[in-house]
Amino acid sequence: MELEAARDLATTLIARHGLDWGFGWDHARRRAGQANFTLRRITLSKHLTTLCSEEQVRQTVLHEIAHALVGPGHGHGAVWKRMAHRIGADSSRVTGPDFPRVAAPWRATCSAGHTHERFRLPKGTVSCGYCSRSYSTKHALSWVRAGE
Ligand SMILES: [Zn+2]
Ligand SMILES: [Zn+2]
Repeated sequence: MELEAARDLATTLIARHGLDWGFGWDHARRRAGQANFTLRRITLSKHLTTLCSEEQVRQTVLHEIAHALVGPGHGHGAVWKRMAHRIGADSSRVTGPDFPRVAAPWRATCSAGHTHERFRLPKGTVSCGYCSRSYSTKHALSWVRAGE
């Protein structure tokens, strides 16, 4: 979705639910939105919003509005779920496999076939955490940049 249109949609939804909250952008790559209780602000990820459909942006904003309405400390528990349901936020729409994700540029596959992704090239040597809890040369990972 275009960022300007997404901003309009978000600010409209925030006002419609009677919240005296602001709107902003963030640069997250792993989550599409966030409710910041300290700044009383809902932020959306520029990276992910660009990849989202209008409905996915709407669902992301409603998800965060539900957080804002119930207040901090509820996580995704029963109180938050009830509010999300009431305002029409459908959690499955923001977590499902169809939801866009930003691909991490660094990939590694261990000898057992576990795949790992990182947004930054890890410093030092890393081994597969699924194969061995502590560092193990046998399961050491070698990182490759996607597309190379
Ligand atoms: Zn949430
Ligand atoms: Zn492994």
